[in-house]
Amino acid sequence: MSFDERRVPGRVKEVTSLSNPLIKDLKALVMKKHRDRERVFMAEGLKLVLDALDAGWAIRTLVYAKAGRGNATVEKAAARAVAQGGLVLEVSEKVLSAITRRDNPQMVVGVFEQRYRDLKDIRAAQDDVWVALDRVRDPGNLGTIIRTVDAVGARGVILVGECTDPYSIETVRATMGSLFAVPLARANEETFLAWRQRFAGLVVGTHLKGWVDYRTVNYSSGPVLLFMGNEQQGLPERLAEACDRLVRIPQAGRADSLNLAVATGVMLYEIRRAALPAASEKMQ
Ligand code: SAM
Repeated sequence: MSFDERRVPGRVKEVTSLSNPLIKDLKALVMKKHRDRERVFMAEGLKLVLDALDAGWAIRTLVYAKAGRGNATVEKAAARAVAQGGLVLEVSEKVLSAITRRDNPQMVVGVFEQRYRDLKDIRAAQDDVWVALDRVRDPGNLGTIIRTVDAVGARGVILVGECTDPYSIETVRATMGSLFAVPLARANEETFLAWRQRFAGLVVGTHLKGWVDYRTVNYSSGPVLLFMGNEQQGLPERLAEACDRLVRIPQAGRADSLNLAVATGVMLYEIRRAALPAASEKMQ
């Protein structure tokens, strides 16, 4: 029986046993192959679940701890899940710990449908900034980058090649809710390079061998695609050659490079400052 077939939507079910098949399905979401098969992911915390519902994300299952019974906000979230045809489970803390693999789990967990934008539908407008990540490996880096993209008002993230899963529990945690605000697309190298040919703007790659200081580039002539390299290998030659500019962030000291998420943050704030002084003034 599949995940979907086991779900009886539209009513609250009380579950205390770890061997309940519904709970086994939820625990299995820790594995990428199960998330991929069901095309869902888990978001922890009442605030995050409400933010996701407000942003129009489709909920499949809402799980809350017994302690949440009678809490008006939890009950409202449960009612919204039911209204969408979602399943609502009231569980013991032990079950919630097992689902989230945390000793002190949040009171509410939501299982939402994954979303990816189709790369071919992405057409950048004048002030848009997109970030492309080549084979990003670390969930913390990816989550931090999604959060930073949200903070600077960039348009979204394109995952190029074999990347860490943006919908893993670690990445979702690291986005601190920004996942629900930042469009994601994914593509293999070929598809990305074909799309890049049609990108009517500046493609800026960051590279330790880049000879242009990142502060000297004019980012204000149209949309910008910022391309960041893999944590271990950086941007491979083929992808570096597809960039209009290869820039370097100067460094003093002994470190041979910056952390990927930090370098992305430095670049995004510079691009925003240079291209949109008015917008960066509005940032609070
Ligand atoms: N050993 C890798 C290399 O040789 O490229 C280091 C990669 S670095 C940890 C990960 C990514 O962060 C790089 O591919 C680049 O996109 C960006 N990055 C880190 N430090 C940078 C710097 N000083 N200038 C430009 N980009 C940098």
